[in-house]
Amino acid sequence: MTTDHVAIIGGGFSGALQAINLLRHHGPRATLIERRSAAGRGVAYSAAHPDHLLNVRAGNMSALPQDPDHFARWLERRHPALAGGFAPRLVYGDYLSELLADARAAAPDRLTILEGDAVDLIPHGESWRVALADGRTIDADAVVLAPGNLPPHVPAGIDAQALAPGVFVAEPWGSDLAAGLTAEDDIVVIGSGLTMIDIALLLEARGFGGRILAVSRRGLSPRAHAAVTPSTLDMRPPPNAMALLRHMRTRSEEVGWRAAVDEMRPYTEGLWMAADLDERRRFLRHVRAWWDVHRHRIAPQVAEKIAALRAAGRLEIVAGKLGAVTAAGAQAEVRYRRRGQDAEELRVVRRIINATGPQGDLLRSSEPLLRRLIARGAIRPDPLHLGIDVTPQSEVIDAQGNAQPTLLAVGPMTRGTFWEIVAVPDIRRQTWAVARKLSNAHWVGGEGL
Ligand SMILES: Cc1cc2nc3c(=O)[nH]c(=O)nc-3n(C[C@H](O)[C@H](O)[C@H](O)COP(=O)(O)OP(=O)(O)OC[C@H]3O[C@@H](n4cnc5c(N)ncnc54)[C@H](O)[C@@H]3O)c2cc1C
Repeated sequence: MTTDHVAIIGGGFSGALQAINLLRHHGPRATLIERRSAAGRGVAYSAAHPDHLLNVRAGNMSALPQDPDHFARWLERRHPALAGGFAPRLVYGDYLSELLADARAAAPDRLTILEGDAVDLIPHGESWRVALADGRTIDADAVVLAPGNLPPHVPAGIDAQALAPGVFVAEPWGSDLAAGLTAEDDIVVIGSGLTMIDIALLLEARGFGGRILAVSRRGLSPRAHAAVTPSTLDMRPPPNAMALLRHMRTRSEEVGWRAAVDEMRPYTEGLWMAADLDERRRFLRHVRAWWDVHRHRIAPQVAEKIAALRAAGRLEIVAGKLGAVTAAGAQAEVRYRRRGQDAEELRVVRRIINATGPQGDLLRSSEPLLRRLIARGAIRPDPLHLGIDVTPQSEVIDAQGNAQPTLLAVGPMTRGTFWEIVAVPDIRRQTWAVARKLSNAHWVGGEGL
């Protein structure tokens, strides 16, 4: 069967790039379906504050795998003062929007951008029918799911209904986190990773002068980038998680931890894909937390701001466990226990912000589209419940274990198969490969876009 029309559900970075890449391959027509009013930015590059910087240098943020300096050149033209460093995420959103608008302008008959909420996807003869919440339907020969991460779980022990309105923020993106806070207020952030860093920066930028307590199991937070001499390693990758840890220790002593982590980058996807389920589980249990904070680093300017907040006693990061959370009028009493301590501590806070990070367990998702697809057996969780089960070609695997060549998924929800599929450099490669497959063609050149 030929593929004339592809529907892409989700118009964040992954979906937008999927559409752009289909056009660049002179492939099938595409309809990009996005529930937000503007496609192309997604969660990461729309609701950001100017203080929120990319955590990857401009030189590695090209959206186009065949043109690695594309973003760096764009930045040089548009914002010369920012060239070479860590640009604001909002500026990167402008870049993506422009790329999408250019793609559409170059081939208006081949790309439709549709504002709508996809709530179902139904097999329709040999093709698919996408149903939108407002009753519209779109028929397509193939569908690419690009829904982004699922929102974080509400941590156990928190009953949002029992707290005064506005005290518990279940999902930090898109909420006005500083609303109603004063310099006398304390807040708690659950989690100490990249999301916590974003929250601290945002509150600071909005003039919040109070104290932030960030609690996470290990109390680890992202490390800073530094000028690193790139080292390349020609090696047989370590055969398992424990060997990986040993290898990282040795290499860290030899070349520094940043270079040691960076030089593993070309091998991590292959390592993950070659590992059996037990090995992957061991990696998640023993290495993941360490890996995340060293691998996904923050810009030095951001690290400085965070260090200043900590030095001033306005941000405390605690390794420990959250205990009972109870209402106290317009505030909440939060109990927590530091790691290695028996005694519980108590803090009365004005706000509790959930920054536990995205979750990937499909079975806990309340998204109507995903729930219906699960019920119909068209998608299933990967064995570790990190996202949607796909083949190495990004084809979605159905409940019976069959790969579906006309239903694909891209972006972070495919991390069960690829692991390293969160950042721009990985997703741009994936969407390129999917475009190539759906176009059944080889790329013929860079003209037009
Ligand atoms: C805060 C943050 C900062 C980051 N910073 C960097 C960085 O500096 N460098 C880097 O390389 N990577 C970074 N990343 C990682 C990476 O860029 C993102 O993971 C990537 O943008 C994922 O894009 P996505 O399109 O898959 O998901 P999303 O951005 O979540 O987009 C998914 C889109 O799909 C839409 N959608 C979902 N379901 C439906 C539906 N049923 N119908 C219609 N629309 C739907 C949503 O509205 C959303 O717009 C960051 C990620 C985050 C969250």
